[in-house]
Amino acid sequence: MSEASLEPSRKPPLIAIDGPAAAGKGTLAQSLAGKLDLPYLDTGLLYRAIGKLMRDAGQDLDDPTAATSVAEKLAPDDLRRTDLRGREAGELASRVAIHPGVRAALLAFQRDFAHGSRGAVLDGRDIGTVICPDADVKLYVTASAEVRARRRTDELLAKGRAVEYEAILAEVKARDARDSGRAEAPLRPADDAIVIDTSALGPAEVLATALSIVENWREGRRVSAGGGERR
Ligand code: C5P
Repeated sequence: MSEASLEPSRKPPLIAIDGPAAAGKGTLAQSLAGKLDLPYLDTGLLYRAIGKLMRDAGQDLDDPTAATSVAEKLAPDDLRRTDLRGREAGELASRVAIHPGVRAALLAFQRDFAHGSRGAVLDGRDIGTVICPDADVKLYVTASAEVRARRRTDELLAKGRAVEYEAILAEVKARDARDSGRAEAPLRPADDAIVIDTSALGPAEVLATALSIVENWREGRRVSAGGGERR
């Protein structure tokens, strides 16, 4: 469907994108935000920054009180660090993310961002379920652990890093288990999320699928990722 058929008079959408690590949700969220001119928040950065700050200070990441205190003091500048994107920060993030106090401390910032007048795209693990249950469009972007590990391995090899698929697969599975197993905000699709399995799709196809879902929302229809109309 063409962008020209979008109705600019309608309010800008609040779009929640959740899913496991390395499924392509960050890529989708960024390109969707660019295409629709919406502010974008990668909520993983919040948890990554807390993990890094604690590691730098030699703090115990498994200590809920210390982690919550760092989360409460988190400042926008902390998100501009250049060392937040890598695997190590991702691992640290998933350790601090299990603390309910950390999640509570980050709630207001994320909700304020989401409810600005310009609409928003947020990606994470609990956006559709906890942070923005009121989102206009909820997407759950996933792929098999094997596909995600293969993509991540190829990405790292392309950057000249010496990595092994089996080790990356084990990391992906361990992160899934940690993210799914926590009592608070476990990784799962919201009941009203549309699941996009990216195992057999490239980034352009994923973006096209998401754009057509947003367009259907604008037109007042709810349509599943497979194209079938939902109740
Ligand atoms: O998405 P990203 O890989 O940057 O997230 C890093 C980790 O932060 C995740 O594995 C998860 O444990 C945690 N996270 C979370 N809730 C979010 C975003 C990230 O628990 N909304």
